[in-house]
Amino acid sequence: MSKALKKHAELEKLFGSDFLPLSKSPASPGRDSATSPKDVASAKPASATSGASVASARPGAGPKIDQWNWPADYLALREEALGCRKCGLCETRTQVVFGVGRLDAPLLFVGEAPGADEDIQGEPFVGKAGQLLTKTLAKHGVSRDKVHIANILKCRPPGNRTPAPDEMAACLPWLRRQIDAIRPKVLCALGNIAAQTLLETKTGITRLRGKYADGLGRKIFPTFHPAYILRNMGELPQFEADILQACKDAGLAG
Ligand code: URA
Repeated sequence: MSKALKKHAELEKLFGSDFLPLSKSPASPGRDSATSPKDVASAKPASATSGASVASARPGAGPKIDQWNWPADYLALREEALGCRKCGLCETRTQVVFGVGRLDAPLLFVGEAPGADEDIQGEPFVGKAGQLLTKTLAKHGVSRDKVHIANILKCRPPGNRTPAPDEMAACLPWLRRQIDAIRPKVLCALGNIAAQTLLETKTGITRLRGKYADGLGRKIFPTFHPAYILRNMGELPQFEADILQACKDAGLAG
């Protein structure tokens, strides 16, 4: 069986046939997958597979935030972020992807930046990588609505390019304010960009993953980015183990 076919079969086994890309080539879009984690646009909103609340796939619609009963100051923070023009990404985004989840969530996932699906739906991790994250949580008995999810960048870099340092510097204060409000028991960094940014290190995710380290004055738990896992299925058991560890440490799994 060819490598591509084998990967196709693995993904089908994991998610069912409706998860698979419609394109003939399941290969990565060209950049190294460990540093290029954002999703290609998928046909289906996350709500179809995850139960997450997505208002619709209409550009600009955004998630239904009223379900979390966010207090006025957090709603005000979101409103402020939605109008952000601190970097050039405000010119190309469809919308700001602020983050989703309960404010009392004990576990906060932080990814890199919105991809095409997230830019359209206004919700982080709703494309294929997000579906893997959601399915992995579900495998450990944790539904997506028990956690909080955000990104280092709130706006999609054009073509899903790697975030530029000035974009991350401009955007990070939003995430800091979110972390201060959520005060999660566990902050799980997904992938190189999130882990290296939060931990202020150049060490790669393969060495960082699965171990707590200090960043932003707290303990950060890094693991692989789910998009990297989609391209490197051999690392799936490690990823699943890390997510389970994060859920256990957050008190969400036994
Ligand atoms: N990749 C990310 O890093 N974040 C998302 O929200 C989606 C894909």
